[in-house]
Amino acid sequence: MSEVMVKCSQVHKSFGDLEVLKGVDLEVKKGEVVAILDPSGSGKTTFLRCINFLERGDAGTICVNGFTVPCKEGTKKEVMELRKKTAMVFQNYNLFKNKTVIQNVMEGLTIVQKVNKQEAYERSKAMLEKVGLGQRLDYYPIQMSGGQQQRAGIARALVLQPDVILFDEPTSALDPELVGEVLETMKEIAETGITMIVVTHEISFAHDVASKVVFMDGGVVVEQGTPEQVIDHPQNERTRQFLKKIKE
Ligand code: ADP
Ligand code: MG
Repeated sequence: MSEVMVKCSQVHKSFGDLEVLKGVDLEVKKGEVVAILDPSGSGKTTFLRCINFLERGDAGTICVNGFTVPCKEGTKKEVMELRKKTAMVFQNYNLFKNKTVIQNVMEGLTIVQKVNKQEAYERSKAMLEKVGLGQRLDYYPIQMSGGQQQRAGIARALVLQPDVILFDEPTSALDPELVGEVLETMKEIAETGITMIVVTHEISFAHDVASKVVFMDGGVVVEQGTPEQVIDHPQNERTRQFLKKIKE
């Protein structure tokens, strides 16, 4: 049996009276690419943020690579430890505007992982070359297209060598003509065997690249399985409705 890399058990999260996550269970195996589909506004970002404790769940546990932290009771130290195992790629890239691309990528290495500057530079440069930005090291974010900025965001996550990368709708802020280059980069990364959890509306990407597709709605996992099962032959009525709408 293959190794479990991420296991979320009964994750709950409310904002005031609004119960967003109502007991989410998710298991991701090492090297697996899991695509999470979910109608807008129902807690995808909140769920990813709960996985790396940018948001603290009200109940449940998060386990990454054998290290389990209770959402509510986890200590600061445990949270720091768990966070080192994850990296996130944000919807709006979240690059520092006053730093160059390579400075953005180096930041996590030098500040969080205390890697010396020279090594951080070399590793960041290599990673930027990998995502096709080797000619853009000293550009500022504003001098690059959205697609290039997002590829820099991916390099920044990858360079940390996390156990799992969390992607929060990584192409949804992009002009349509720039979506392809980012999906292509993600596909290449997936082929290297890194574990990925990807919230996305890109059905064909989910179909072609994901090993597992999870359909969430109303704060719970409604249906999950292979792309063939969930996308081609959805069993649940809500999954069917959503896919029908998206395919129109
Ligand atoms: P999605 O990413 O699926 O669009 P989100 O996780 O961003 O959804 O949000 C789910 C719901 O939780 C929304 O109704 C949103 O308004 C609410 N929400 C998210 N973050 C907060 C917050 N920090 N405070 C209050 N409400 C929030
Ligand atoms: Mg969101």
